[in-house]
Amino acid sequence: MKAEIITIGDELLIGQVIDTNSAWLGQQLSLLGISLYQRTACGDSKEQILACLHDAELRSDIIILTGGLGPTKDDITKKTLCEYFNTNLVTDEKVLAWVTHIFQMRKMPMLDINLQQALIPSNSKTLWNRSGTAPGIWFDVNNKIFISLPGVPFEMKVIFDEEVIPLLKQKFELPTIYHRTLQTCSIGESFLAEKIKDIENNLPSYIKLAYLPSVGTVRLRLSAHGDNKEKLIHEVSQICNQFYERIGEYIYGEDNDNLSEVVGKLLKEKNKTLATAESCTGGFIAHQITSIAGSSSYYKGSIISYDNKIKTLELNVSDVILKNDGAVSEACVKQMAQTILNKFDVDYAIATSGIAGPDGGSEEKPVGTVWIAIANKNEIIAKKYNMGDNRERTILRTSLMALDMLRKMIL
Ligand code: ATP
Repeated sequence: MKAEIITIGDELLIGQVIDTNSAWLGQQLSLLGISLYQRTACGDSKEQILACLHDAELRSDIIILTGGLGPTKDDITKKTLCEYFNTNLVTDEKVLAWVTHIFQMRKMPMLDINLQQALIPSNSKTLWNRSGTAPGIWFDVNNKIFISLPGVPFEMKVIFDEEVIPLLKQKFELPTIYHRTLQTCSIGESFLAEKIKDIENNLPSYIKLAYLPSVGTVRLRLSAHGDNKEKLIHEVSQICNQFYERIGEYIYGEDNDNLSEVVGKLLKEKNKTLATAESCTGGFIAHQITSIAGSSSYYKGSIISYDNKIKTLELNVSDVILKNDGAVSEACVKQMAQTILNKFDVDYAIATSGIAGPDGGSEEKPVGTVWIAIANKNEIIAKKYNMGDNRERTILRTSLMALDMLRKMIL
């Protein structure tokens, strides 16, 4: 069974909006065991959409469209689908009541064009959108499925999860594919591959391992294909146990775990508190930590000591350290961590200082040099890294390394 995705919108073609819908849908289809044959982006033009539909129908069994379902003039997907299937639009009373309710709730006047949201092609099924006014549409014509979803990513996702998946499962006998992903940090892809090469070489043909690297982290995804789900889960779990034994220190979580969340959980479980003193990361670590709901129970705050004067005034970094060792040094981050630990009266502290670039590097301390210190009441650990010459990646990588050092210290 083959699927394909058609994303609609001029904004996608000119690169004004990145097509994240296709990436997300691709992941979901793969989880369902449906292979994705092709992805196409097409402009807001009837002719282009008709041509895409025609080509896709020749190749694929499931065709998913996103975008162009709204009430504005450039949103032509519904009308074009009607032309393609030689049908007309009819009002879905349930959707009309829902749209009216949304406008009443928001105390907004309802315009004629808003009423159009309730119009659905007569040969289709409505896919309920509890997050917005544009419903999705499902067509089952000559045993080919066409699914039209709104462009707005969160609306598209809700409809896909709640409406499309159950219908696909009803319509097709989907194969069993079981995925499990281990999240690693503080080790590069090739080093990881070297450490687990024998385990990887011994995997049965129906279990595949994928390395998915991104800045500072590498995800290891095991995908098992077969008929017996229980058996697949058991086998994948045994392989994961081997990974935990071999590279457990680098594994911070699984599937969609996020490092700040993992660290937050550890702090919460142990009833410990944290504060940060950031220079080169400029508050980015604080941002990552506070992005997690409930972080106020363990995170006390930060001093962003970007300027050396602030390092001295607020974090007691002495002129002698600044003169002899410099702001990007072991002595400096250790002092920053020690002071913030005492000043904020917390159990753990993180401190960072580095040269994010592009300027400010020297032969001794090139751009990308970063010192990170992690402290608790008994010890301070400081490490030096070279994070490379890209400012954004250095900041992100530093924050991940710092959180991972803290995770290891807590454990
Ligand atoms: P609406 O009811 O809001 O008009 P729509 O179905 O008409 O929804 P579009 O107008 O095509 O959707 O897109 C709405 C917004 O959704 C776009 O401005 C864009 O930000 C986002 N969007 C559209 N397509 C994609 C895509 N493929 N990937 C990511 N974002 C997208």
